[in-house]
Amino acid sequence: MAKVNHALVIGGGIAGLTMALALHKAGIRATIYESYPSTADGVGASLMLAPNGLSALKLVGVDAALLAASQPITRMAMADSRGKVLTVFDGIEGMPPSRVVWRSDLYRVLRAAVEAAGIRVIYGKRLVGASETADGVSAQFGDGSVADGDILIGADGIRSTVRELIDPCAPAPRYTGFLGFGGGAPPDAMQVPAGCMTFVFGKHAFFGYWADPGLGICWFGSLPHETPLTMEEARKMPAAQWLGRLRALYGDDQPAQTFLRQAVSDQLVATGASEMMPPVPRWHSQRMVLVGDAVHAPSSSSGQGASLAIESAVQLARCLRDLPVPADAFACYERLRRARVENAAADAAKVNSRKASGPFAKALAHMLMPIALKCFFNPAKMFGALHGYRIDWDASVDQTEASRA
Ligand SMILES: Cc1cc2nc3c(=O)[nH]c(=O)nc-3n(C[C@H](O)[C@H](O)[C@H](O)COP(=O)(O)OP(=O)(O)OC[C@H]3O[C@@H](n4cnc5c(N)ncnc54)[C@H](O)[C@@H]3O)c2cc1C
Repeated sequence: MAKVNHALVIGGGIAGLTMALALHKAGIRATIYESYPSTADGVGASLMLAPNGLSALKLVGVDAALLAASQPITRMAMADSRGKVLTVFDGIEGMPPSRVVWRSDLYRVLRAAVEAAGIRVIYGKRLVGASETADGVSAQFGDGSVADGDILIGADGIRSTVRELIDPCAPAPRYTGFLGFGGGAPPDAMQVPAGCMTFVFGKHAFFGYWADPGLGICWFGSLPHETPLTMEEARKMPAAQWLGRLRALYGDDQPAQTFLRQAVSDQLVATGASEMMPPVPRWHSQRMVLVGDAVHAPSSSSGQGASLAIESAVQLARCLRDLPVPADAFACYERLRRARVENAAADAAKVNSRKASGPFAKALAHMLMPIALKCFFNPAKMFGALHGYRIDWDASVDQTEASRA
């Protein structure tokens, strides 16, 4: 049977753009269909790219541009609610530092690479249906148009339509009970060492901050909220009200209180509900497959969503390059990826359940945290396998590699 020639990639976010670049490298033509009417320049908050994600991005040739657009985080510090640093993590020996990047900058870098590779991105195309035959797949869009290809790749995010087309009983995303927020404070609000991201175990919620050379102090926090709100819904509520609630929540915590006192409401960024995907039973059909948040979104506390999405896109392209029958390539890809991404999501879920625990458990955890960090915090053990994952692009994928995964 002929190898895949043309892939329809649904969604032009981080996973979709990386997917198209990796397919291009594998000699497979891709067309991206994005529901938004235009590019997403300037949209979104910051995210952390771990060494595993950076290494996968290098394989699609965007490493130099990304280095210029991001900032290294050479040290991570854990602090208690008074702001006292309990422990620091200087990275894992032999691995490059993680980097913090604005989602819009990562998007811009990937988008420029896609353009340079001559890959078509068609905007204003919301996928609403798809039908498969033995030879290919036909995608139907909300504007009545259709597109045909050999395969269809769902890179359409956590609310994926493709996931439902593959399996109408597929699970929905799970709300972790928190809404995400980010903001800034003037550089002189506090002395923050360059290249250090600090995570504060606040009395009621987690808080993080770092110094951006151009912007001053950047911070992120989360607010417990009964109902999940999308980013758009959260932004409909006046930012001053959110800021008031954040100030009350972090009232006893330092340096959150200092930063929030100086924060101005029109700079507050609401990122919406923190959600995660439970394990997805069906990753693919004969001609359709999922990648990125559509199939494995760990919660944002993992700091791995984008890195894992990028890894998956590169691995899927490798499988399609080497295995001529799409369903075989998809099955091999799932075997290479499922355990890794589900373990990362399960670890993040444990962190979230601690965050969402009741007042007594929280107070106890708060008291024990310094001791636990001193005695048991072993970064190489905790993050070594996650951050150390490398893809050997040149090695050909065969069933043996997949069955060992
Ligand atoms: C607050 C927050 C903080 C985070 N922090 C980190 C971090 O520190 N580190 C990290 O690695 N990750 C982080 N993440 C996760 C990371 O942002 C995502 O994992 C990553 O962006 C996933 O990319 P994606 O392309 O799969 O999905 P998305 O970025 O959601 O892209 C999906 C695209 O598909 C389009 N689309 C949707 N439906 C359709 C349709 N029917 N037809 C056509 N197009 C469609 C959408 O418009 C969108 O452009 C964070 C996420 C959040 C919310």
